[in-house]
Amino acid sequence: MKQLAENTYWLTDSVGAHCYWLDDGDRVAIIDPGMKGGLNKVARELRAAGRSPYEVTDILLTHYDIDHTGAAAEWQRRTGARTWLGSEDAAILTGAVPPPSTFLRQFTGAITHVELPGNLQLIEGDTELWSGLSALHTPGHTPGHHSFRHGSVLFVGDTGTADATGLKPMRTFIMSDPMQGLADLARLGAQGAEWVCCGHSDPVRYKS
Ligand SMILES: [Zn+2]
Repeated sequence: MKQLAENTYWLTDSVGAHCYWLDDGDRVAIIDPGMKGGLNKVARELRAAGRSPYEVTDILLTHYDIDHTGAAAEWQRRTGARTWLGSEDAAILTGAVPPPSTFLRQFTGAITHVELPGNLQLIEGDTELWSGLSALHTPGHTPGHHSFRHGSVLFVGDTGTADATGLKPMRTFIMSDPMQGLADLARLGAQGAEWVCCGHSDPVRYKS
């Protein structure tokens, strides 16, 4: 567990995507819990830091891919937390809407199954999930992908990767809509966040 900003931590033991922890008063959020195989590792990591998985009140999912969401249903069962997911991605998980028609998504959709978590709260467009926590609809990676902003910290999921020089696009073949992805990146870059936390590159601090 590594502290980033005052209320934000990186849970480094997750499996799959990067996982983050946010203390926000009476809300305690975990962002992208990762794959099921990392659930107990993250729980141990939290306990070693004097925290408990049972503190979690909200599970924020940037999008429906299994490397971000595989552990979400079990986290939710154990904690009773609210689970937040873009409505377009929830519709893909329920089978109401087919996955985006890229080869990769049709293929992985056929061999992987993500369990839809309980206590599901659908995110529609740009919205405030609670006071101080904003969801930004960034649909380039998946139709229901959201980034989240809390104060000076931006969680961008799979909209891009970050290094010292800024945000970079993901590989085109994993984006549902690569042109939209570039527009999402420009929008996120314009947020001027101090911390940028990505799904697949280490968090980067841009100014103090
Ligand atoms: Zn991912």
